[in-house]
Amino acid sequence: MELVVARNRAELVKARGEGPIALVPTMGALHEGHRALIREARALAARVVVSVFVNPLQFGPSEDLSRYPRTLEADLDACRAEGVAVVFTPAAEDMYAADRQVGVSAGHMGTIVEGTARPGHFDGVLTVVLKLFNLVQPDLACFGQKDAQQLAVIRRMVADLDLPIGIVGVPTVREPDGLAMSSRNRFLSAQDRERALALSRALSAGAVEATPSRVVAVAREVLGAAGLDPDYLTLVDPATFEAVPEAYKGEAVLAVAARVGRTRLIDNALIRL
Ligand code: AMP
Repeated sequence: MELVVARNRAELVKARGEGPIALVPTMGALHEGHRALIREARALAARVVVSVFVNPLQFGPSEDLSRYPRTLEADLDACRAEGVAVVFTPAAEDMYAADRQVGVSAGHMGTIVEGTARPGHFDGVLTVVLKLFNLVQPDLACFGQKDAQQLAVIRRMVADLDLPIGIVGVPTVREPDGLAMSSRNRFLSAQDRERALALSRALSAGAVEATPSRVVAVAREVLGAAGLDPDYLTLVDPATFEAVPEAYKGEAVLAVAARVGRTRLIDNALIRL
């Protein structure tokens, strides 16, 4: 199948084709984590549409929008290799009218955990994801467990707004030493790359503990030993992202964000108590 590159909404509508369609939204700089999403999408649907769009709405004023990596030619090669039907790569001006007014609110879920550090971030994510759903009209869409709160708010949007789209969560793909793959890892110096390993180590160390307070305490110790002071380190309900009570039994997400050098990294582990 020849890859079609749609550079604006009109081209996308012409190119999207007939279902079943699986959508994989990305901001580009594709790595093995993205490719795992694309492979899952390919396994589930005849046509895969990948969006490559660095969404200005989900970046705060002091965040890294302008230095976010852009590697479109390599991204297109990766999509060709994975059998993608269409790559949708619009300009920001094509996606958003200068006088746009209306967006999606993530509600309370958008204001906690990652949302505390990044006000408006999840509103921006949901607004672009809903636009992509409307433009591509997919049957299903794949998202990474790497961004666990994003996955949770998207599931919530689909439930609350009755969107007829299946949401597929894909496990986090890691480097052999445990570092979660991220487009931002390229900004780490060799020394920071080493320190960044404390994130996945902290999650693994906490994950084997029996109570929420122990899980968090043990993980915090590992981060502290590496000199990392997390933005947050919390054990939450995977669906609501509210902190779980001490007596909690069942699945939980141990979520962490920390700045390593100039780069802010997030990671999480699904654990069972
Ligand atoms: P991004 O380009 O960072 O916006 O990510 C696009 C999609 O890829 C999101 O659904 C992410 O959760 C997912 N993703 C990013 N990194 C990974 C990873 N290491 N493993 C699995 N999925 C990932």
